[in-house]
Amino acid sequence: MSSHGVTLTPIPRIREHPYGMSESRPVVIAVLGGGPRGIGVVERIAANLPELAAGVTLEIHVVDPHPIGAGRIWRRAQSGLLKLNSMAADVTMFTDEASTIDGPVWRGPSLIEWAEGIRSGEITDVEADPELSRQIATLTGSSFPTRRLQSLYLDWFARRAFAALPPTATVTVHDTRALTVRDSGDHQLVSLEAGETIVADLVLYAIGHTGREPEEAHSALLDFAQRHRLRYFAPDFTADADTGTIPAVEPVIVRGMGLAAVDLVVLLTEGRGGRFIRSADDELEYLPSGEEPTLFLGSRRGVPYRSKISSTLVAPRATPRFFSAEVAARLEHGSEELRFREDVWPFIAKEMLWGYYTELFTGHPDRVRLGWDEFAERFARLDWDSAQLRQLIEDAVPDPLDRLDLRRLDRPLAGQSFETDEQLQERLRSHLREDLRLRSAPEHSATLGLFYSLLFAMFDLGTIADSPKWTARSRISDLGEWWFNQFSYIASGPPAHRLEEWIALSRAGILSFLGPDLRVDTDVRGWFTASSPSVPGTIHARTLVDARLPAVGIGTSDNPLLRDLVQSGVGSEEYLEDASASGTTGKLEVRPSDSRVLDPSGTAHPHRFAVGPYTNASSVGAFSRPRTNAVSFRENDRVARALLESAAQIASAHREILRSTIR
Ligand SMILES: Cc1cc2nc3c(=O)[nH]c(=O)nc-3n(C[C@H](O)[C@H](O)[C@H](O)COP(=O)(O)OP(=O)(O)OC[C@H]3O[C@@H](n4cnc5c(N)ncnc54)[C@H](O)[C@@H]3O)c2cc1C
Repeated sequence: MSSHGVTLTPIPRIREHPYGMSESRPVVIAVLGGGPRGIGVVERIAANLPELAAGVTLEIHVVDPHPIGAGRIWRRAQSGLLKLNSMAADVTMFTDEASTIDGPVWRGPSLIEWAEGIRSGEITDVEADPELSRQIATLTGSSFPTRRLQSLYLDWFARRAFAALPPTATVTVHDTRALTVRDSGDHQLVSLEAGETIVADLVLYAIGHTGREPEEAHSALLDFAQRHRLRYFAPDFTADADTGTIPAVEPVIVRGMGLAAVDLVVLLTEGRGGRFIRSADDELEYLPSGEEPTLFLGSRRGVPYRSKISSTLVAPRATPRFFSAEVAARLEHGSEELRFREDVWPFIAKEMLWGYYTELFTGHPDRVRLGWDEFAERFARLDWDSAQLRQLIEDAVPDPLDRLDLRRLDRPLAGQSFETDEQLQERLRSHLREDLRLRSAPEHSATLGLFYSLLFAMFDLGTIADSPKWTARSRISDLGEWWFNQFSYIASGPPAHRLEEWIALSRAGILSFLGPDLRVDTDVRGWFTASSPSVPGTIHARTLVDARLPAVGIGTSDNPLLRDLVQSGVGSEEYLEDASASGTTGKLEVRPSDSRVLDPSGTAHPHRFAVGPYTNASSVGAFSRPRTNAVSFRENDRVARALLESAAQIASAHREILRSTIR
């Protein structure tokens, strides 16, 4: 047992008799996974306890081999070069006045407010090393903090949550993995890798992102790599992959240009001793160390995710008109079945255009030829993807750079071909420069209008995410994959400086682009190959990296605890079937009302609960933004209340048994 820097105050408690014999018999809750969600639920337990389980003695066991609060993803022991993909002002662990929860709101600082609190001396219980102290001193609301700094915030949050528990509750931390959970009468036996067993009454799974056994295609590549002494990296957490074995100078094919690729590039360049400097004409330049491999990056789009936006709105933010929680509810009520791409996406697409053009016309009237009222009135009548709307925009918006075409935004290289590789590289560098300009120049603040409309559309879509009316295809592929990818590509890309770094790396010859519709193959002579139909030539390499997170698949998870949950028949992988499609979402089924684990027949387990990105509960899979009524806070509160209600029932049943024994 260890406290990982979390100060645990043991609270004396009378336990004269074995379980079942003493009035002070505690109710034991095992929290498996002590990352942001697990600890978020503990904080909600502390907040709700006085109302729901005031007289109950609670023993909370938190199990995680990684530091409590930060967990695996945000642990302090990782490269200081890796960053959050969110700004410091957009990250909070605390509920606020916008949270519609049954439990009490416990306000607390967002990440930037926490740093300001340390700077002003209001927060003193934080031990930062000199590098983290420097980061705290210079952090602003729009900084992208390092993961190590986030680790410190999460550790502080965890200590606050534990300290907020009343003296009737204790916390014990186990720095090991949980392997299995077994039903034994009314108890849950949690076996730990370190050898102990926790005898619990209630179990919360909060095990976050997990890997999985390689899928068929990845196994074939691993096999090929083994036979030919090559290196193949299947989808993984980049920070944990053994990328140190990739040799210098040699070509490396990287499939995927999302956030995992961004992390990989950082680790293989600056992480290998290279440096970025700013030239006299304000251009970023890369000074190689000589230890870098030569990186070739490609994907279906052939471009990275759009950069984060640093401009600010000039005009008031658009009032949602075409998609909102009310529209979502109307669509849900008004139809027998919900098809995402056909029935809902057109409304979201129009809302995205609405957000963009509201800011363009009202914030930058000098950039358009029509008055806002006239444009808005004509816009409202047209389909989001119609030739008439495109014509209206062409007539009203003279600069093509100011025109938003959602199809072109999604596939900027569609239909383009390049005679030489140099033309492709130049096109990609100019694409990145244009993206940076669109997302940082004040005159292009309409992209922020687009971002907000997309963000709020996602929140509003969340209000009908649990509807039973979604078709199987909508749930399996449209919402789970296509929509998530669209959102991530437009709204959840890397900080702008990462793309500026890619331009510099490209100019230094360390990073090259492979083009769209990337095709990766193996050749008989024992090479990985990569090519694109848009440009002549094929790259041969001895290393291939699939730069993305492993897809969720709880049945084939590499986490023994999850596999055990499914194989023991207690939990089930969500399977959907109707006329539109059949298949699995790969996620664990939980009951929406309280996140209890559902077995294959749909029966809720009385003692086991699960939260996090591997469950089929609608969740955002990111830190909560302040004042957005975050879905994960609502779920944390619901689960904590359900745990406490069960704890109160268990304690009362136990008192009853004790009384009848004494009589
Ligand atoms: C690489 C990566 C980068 C991300 N970057 C961002 C970002 O920049 N901004 C953002 O908002 N969101 C980001 N996210 C989203 C992320 O989902 C959340 O930030 C958050 O980490 C989710 O919290 P969690 O507790 O559910 O999962 P996790 O953070 O994964 O924590 C789960 C914990 O469970 C533990 N665990 C697993 N199995 C067991 C077991 N068998 N026994 C005991 N313990 C176990 C793990 O060790 C881990 O500590 C990122 C996610 C990933 C994977």
